[in-house]
Amino acid sequence: MYFKKLLLIVLIIFTEKNIFAQCAIENWSIEKRTELSSLIVEGKVIKLNSFRSAYSKAIYTATVIEVYKIFKGNINGSKTIEIITFGGQIGNELHRADPELELSKDETGVFLLVNNEVKLSDNIKNNGIPEFQGVASLQSLISYDLMYNKAFDGEKTYYGIETELYEKLQDLTGLKFYEVKNSAINFNLFKNRKLSSPEIKSFVQSSANSGTGDILTIKGTGFRNTRGNGRIEFLDANYGDGRRVKTPFAADYKVWNDTMISVRIPTRAGTGTISLATYDSNYFTTSTSFKINFAHLNASFAPSGGSTQYFTTDHVNDNGKGGYTFQMNYRFKNNNNMVNTFLKSLETWRCQTFMNWEVGRDTSINKIEPDQVNIVKLTKNANNVLATCYSYWNGCYVSGTEMEWYVTELDIEADSTRNWYYGTGNPSGSQYDFQSVISHELGHGHQLGHVIASQEMMHWSISPGQKKSSLSSNDIAGGTYVKDKSIKMNVCSGAKLIALNSTNCGYTKPTAGFKASLLNICESKDVVFTDTSKGIIKTYLWKFDNGASSASKTGKGPHTITYSTTGFKTIKLFTTNDFGTDSTVKTNYIEILPTKPPMPQNLKFKDTTCIGTSTYVVDTFNGNYNLTWLFPPEASEIGGGKYSKQVNWTSSGGPFKILVKSQNLCGSSDSLTGSVWVMNNPVPSFTATENGREVTFTNTSQFADSYKWYFGDSDSSSLLNPVHIYPLGKAYVAVLKATNICKTVVFSKTVNPYHPAHIYNRAKNEIYFSPNPVVDQILTSEKVLSYKIFDIAGKELLWGDKKNINFEKFEKGFYILNLKLLNGENLIFKIIKKGE
Ligand SMILES: [Zn+2]
Repeated sequence: MYFKKLLLIVLIIFTEKNIFAQCAIENWSIEKRTELSSLIVEGKVIKLNSFRSAYSKAIYTATVIEVYKIFKGNINGSKTIEIITFGGQIGNELHRADPELELSKDETGVFLLVNNEVKLSDNIKNNGIPEFQGVASLQSLISYDLMYNKAFDGEKTYYGIETELYEKLQDLTGLKFYEVKNSAINFNLFKNRKLSSPEIKSFVQSSANSGTGDILTIKGTGFRNTRGNGRIEFLDANYGDGRRVKTPFAADYKVWNDTMISVRIPTRAGTGTISLATYDSNYFTTSTSFKINFAHLNASFAPSGGSTQYFTTDHVNDNGKGGYTFQMNYRFKNNNNMVNTFLKSLETWRCQTFMNWEVGRDTSINKIEPDQVNIVKLTKNANNVLATCYSYWNGCYVSGTEMEWYVTELDIEADSTRNWYYGTGNPSGSQYDFQSVISHELGHGHQLGHVIASQEMMHWSISPGQKKSSLSSNDIAGGTYVKDKSIKMNVCSGAKLIALNSTNCGYTKPTAGFKASLLNICESKDVVFTDTSKGIIKTYLWKFDNGASSASKTGKGPHTITYSTTGFKTIKLFTTNDFGTDSTVKTNYIEILPTKPPMPQNLKFKDTTCIGTSTYVVDTFNGNYNLTWLFPPEASEIGGGKYSKQVNWTSSGGPFKILVKSQNLCGSSDSLTGSVWVMNNPVPSFTATENGREVTFTNTSQFADSYKWYFGDSDSSSLLNPVHIYPLGKAYVAVLKATNICKTVVFSKTVNPYHPAHIYNRAKNEIYFSPNPVVDQILTSEKVLSYKIFDIAGKELLWGDKKNINFEKFEKGFYILNLKLLNGENLIFKIIKKGE
């Protein structure tokens, strides 16, 4: 149950969310169509009359519409109108156009129309019914679904005909509709249906083709035992918007009983759900989808003595060369882009289905009519049609009501006013791709109808900006099916078609192309060149440039080549067939790399350097090489690029080796090297030995080359270990500047060249007094309890218990110092007072 629901949802999204134009027509909005229409009516198809144009031998159809309501324009009291469309049947001759508004009896909806421009035959012109044409080809009919009260208009579905659709049209015209005749349309057949509804429970197969005679067999309940007006309805592949194509001919129903129906799948049937209507107006729509792979165009015809039925159409040997010859009108031929693109489309089909189509000489014929000339021409369409394929068919009787039908002629017409895209890339959002549109029309020429499968060439729509350059497997299967049945037997008076084959199907000169397995290759290593050319190719010529193991090659390849010389190589490929030669030259496409790249040159550096930042540079060079720099652990890289590096030396010493070499994916060069000594910054230090005011400086600095001393008394020296006598007995700041190539570093220290005299133990039990003579101060020690000073005559001059004795005021001469120690000992020194 879940599976069924999911399928239904997918289908709804697909059918109602498309933004495409139908077939080869541009999508016109309802606003645009309403504005351009001179007449908008609601009505029903009651009759179709074919006639031959008064201007050409082409057959048209005048479809009589019973008019119910007029939304725009007027028809001067008439109750019916006629819509003139290309195609129809007279005698055993049938014409059709793709795209074209294709109406069938009982079709009901809103018709958007303009005044007729087709030259009518007298019997139509004079029948008193006003004639019109669709304003926008297929988009001229908003189709009613009376079962569910819906109206389909391409990308828009109206849910409620009397409400949504009428309101929309009245809004757009600004007019209330005028009722010509009570339609007696029952808009709610489904709501009002009787209760015993039929139910389709299964399909015997899940996919088939339409218009080929394939039968769909359905099983279920409540189908009723007689068909009457009962019918099977498929989604209409001309629109893909949800509207349905009915299967009206009795001949199409092989079985109809209460539980099983077998029906021939009609040409317009597209992939989607299947509906069943019983003779008593009961209705059922499946939730599962039935897949249509491809569609074959059919002639619907009532043979004499039989009822209307579908006939398949075959190709014949029309030109005596096995198939059909297209001839380009001069105006088309003058457009090189159109011609080349047409030939590409033609070749695409020729080489996939082997349909025997060729292009003959140009023609001045410009008329769309059966004239034995399959023309390819330009036109200026007033409506939204981009391109049209016209098929002309003849039928003949085989026996009884058995008939054969075949293609007598095809004409192809392209609108000259479009913004066409002819390239191999992608068209812009406002361009239509000429190749895609022409390939689609040639699909119709193959006698294929539309499918509902957006990626296939025969999908019912193409949008601007869309490109379909190749055929799908279903497109090919469909074209091959028609070709295969056409080559089997002669049809009517025509000889059978003769198929092409892969050696003679080419129709354009090839497009040369190739690729290399690698773009950077080591010398003497393999590189493989692979052909990517498009089209039919008879001969190849490869040129591999100098140093190649083979200078040139013929044949498709792939070709494996090695090179003995390095550098860039230019590769050329020439491809030729009966229609010409194409070449691709890829200049400097590959590069052959040496296994030993050249060594980098000219390393610039200082062989003696300092702790901190240093820069290393080599010459720049051409060529695809990387450089590898190698520094010892004492140097950390901090910046630079390919050709230069900045490092931070963190340790002194040496010699340190630095290396640089070039590298590619094939190998490395020898290394260019440099040897570096890293100097420490100077570390200045000194000791100062004072001897009174004479100070001996001993230099203990490291790493310095030269020194400068500033003693602090305005004197200086450059000696290594100077001895300096200070003028005063006081503290000075002595400065040593130590210098090497890296830096000058300053060290300073306070020296005090004056020492107060004091007592100390120089060695065990040897007590000294120093200096002597005394200048001004005497320092005693902690062990001293008290002191006394006597002159030389023994006279006591001073006494006390301080640790500092001021001797400044004493006159020059000799004195006696008597110290009494804490341990009771007495020490006596002879002191000299020095004069100034
Ligand atoms: Zn089409």
